Amino acid sequence: MLRDWNVPFRALLDAAPDGILVCDHLGTLVLVNSEAERMFGYEHDALPGQPIELLIPEQRRIGHRDHVASYTAEPRRRPMGSKLDLHGRRKDGTEFPVEISLSPLTSERGLLVIAGVRDVSDRRELEREKKRATGYLLSAVEAVQEAFLLFDEHDRVMMVNSAARELLGPVGDAPIIGRSFEELTEAALVAETFDLGGEPAGAWHARRLAYHRNPSGVLDLRTRDGRAIRVTERKTADQGTVMTIADITEDTRRAEELRQARELAEAASEAKSEFLSSMSHELRTPLNAILGFAQLLERDRKQPLSERQIERLGHVLRGGEHLLRLIDDVLDLSRIESGRISVSSEPVDVAEVLTEVVHTLEPMASRAGVQIVAPAVAPRTPQVIADRTRLAQILMNFGSNAIKYGKPEGRVAFRTERGPTTVRIVVIDDGIGIPEDKRDKIFEPFQRAGQEAGPIEGTGIGLTISKRLAELMRGSIGFRSEVGRGSEFWIELPAHGDAAAEVSRVRDPEALASRLAVGQRRHTIVYVEDNPSNIAFMRDLVGDLSSVELLTAPTAEIGLELIRARQPKVVIMDINLPGISGFEAVKRLREWPETRHIPIIGLSAAALARDTARAKEAGFDRYLTKPVKVDELTEALERLLQDP
Ligand code: ADP
Repeated sequence: MLRDWNVPFRALLDAAPDGILVCDHLGTLVLVNSEAERMFGYEHDALPGQPIELLIPEQRRIGHRDHVASYTAEPRRRPMGSKLDLHGRRKDGTEFPVEISLSPLTSERGLLVIAGVRDVSDRRELEREKKRATGYLLSAVEAVQEAFLLFDEHDRVMMVNSAARELLGPVGDAPIIGRSFEELTEAALVAETFDLGGEPAGAWHARRLAYHRNPSGVLDLRTRDGRAIRVTERKTADQGTVMTIADITEDTRRAEELRQARELAEAASEAKSEFLSSMSHELRTPLNAILGFAQLLERDRKQPLSERQIERLGHVLRGGEHLLRLIDDVLDLSRIESGRISVSSEPVDVAEVLTEVVHTLEPMASRAGVQIVAPAVAPRTPQVIADRTRLAQILMNFGSNAIKYGKPEGRVAFRTERGPTTVRIVVIDDGIGIPEDKRDKIFEPFQRAGQEAGPIEGTGIGLTISKRLAELMRGSIGFRSEVGRGSEFWIELPAHGDAAAEVSRVRDPEALASRLAVGQRRHTIVYVEDNPSNIAFMRDLVGDLSSVELLTAPTAEIGLELIRARQPKVVIMDINLPGISGFEAVKRLREWPETRHIPIIGLSAAALARDTARAKEAGFDRYLTKPVKVDELTEALERLLQDP
């Protein structure tokens, strides 16, 4: 009867998007639509009359006939082999995945089976693709060293790697996937996975939740087994959350070790500085007496010395001065190395500094029989950006080396050269020069380039200090040298504008001292000092000054009484005193209305920059370091005594 059906029925079948096969209860194909013919690769009408097995892969054919028999015994509409991986076989023998649904149809030819066949190659390919992509993602997540969890928009775990499983430990019996964040956190609290560090569980939980809801930055936690972990959470575009947890135990430990090492190093450097400061204090105190008295002896006009005595005194003074320089240099170097030195850069007139340096070096040069050739003062001399005192210190170092390592009857020349943005100051000598194999070491501390055993005095730190100071001032230093012909040392500094040269103002200490000495009014000075030789020295010093009456006090307590009672014109205060310190005494003097206005000169062996700063803060008007330089003290006294 079916065969009698006309074209519209056939057209209907052919229009179906799936392949349709009809076979009888013996498994013989009776009707095949064109989609099925295309799918299996047969010509039109080639299939009817063929056994259905033709369309089944060979290895699956066995037993198929039984399937057909059992289906026809109990026919109903169902998908075929729903759990099986079904395949069709094309005419050319190739196979392809299919999905088949079966329906029975009773006809006059007996029971027929209609099979709807769909080629699912594309879908299977997509499924394989998806599986591969998920596999990649999973192995990537697994490869991440940190613990990784991905929560979906309902805050349930979608993905987790084994590092996270290990970190979280057993969190109840249920698997982690699908659990909510809140459940996991509660389970971790119950399992005591974290060390709450004394924080109440409720507060810890709230803090954890707050970070999860609004994650910014990171959250550092500790686990019960002593590990430090860092949680980082970020919201995804579709309201999920990515959470990574890194074990930072090692980093934290290393950071802590570094911090401790730094603290130790700082403490050691502090201790070194303290030691050097107190050592220099201890060394300066006796030097104060030695140099002070030697200077007074040299100047004593009432009892002129014999030539021999003057010569011996010269030795004492030079030895003392050398020792003082050494102390100052070591102190300077240690301050530079501990970064405690600061330079204050400002425009500095090079000619002015050179005049001062040359002036100071003149006596040394004439003793050595060396002639200094200073540059002629041009109407417009260059200015540099530098710390004036430090620049002078460097030029003094270059200059004194040029004289020391020069030759008798030799010459030392100072020259300035202008570059586009820099100024170079050069010190040239025609002395012994530096051997080539020693040149690379001369900027290292205590390296004397072969002069260690020689007769020329030196410490080997001068150039080290000069180089570091130059660098602190954003400058540089360098040299050229030739053995037997001489050396050239230079410092290069940033240039500053082109300001007109200032006339150099060289002070005349003799004149100051004499102005003090001939003053008409008589002034009282109170000197608070416990060291008898320092007191004797001061008596000797101001004994020369007719306008001054000196009162002394061995402790600050006595000194304070004396100052209140006598209202001196100036107070000179030692800092280290047996009872209350000079600092404390000054504080009290500044509090009392009757002593508030009296100028005070501080005198101390502590030569660190911060001591000077502290002294200013404490209320001293001047602060001088021991050993006392006679000129400096005289000048300070003159100023304070003359002030209205
Ligand atoms: P020192 O106290 O020994 O002079 P410096 O650090 O100033 O220390 O110099 C280091 C060494 O460089 C000196 O010992 C000397 O050998 C060498 N030197 C420095 N300047 C000159 C120079 N103008 N001529 C020859 N040698 C020099």
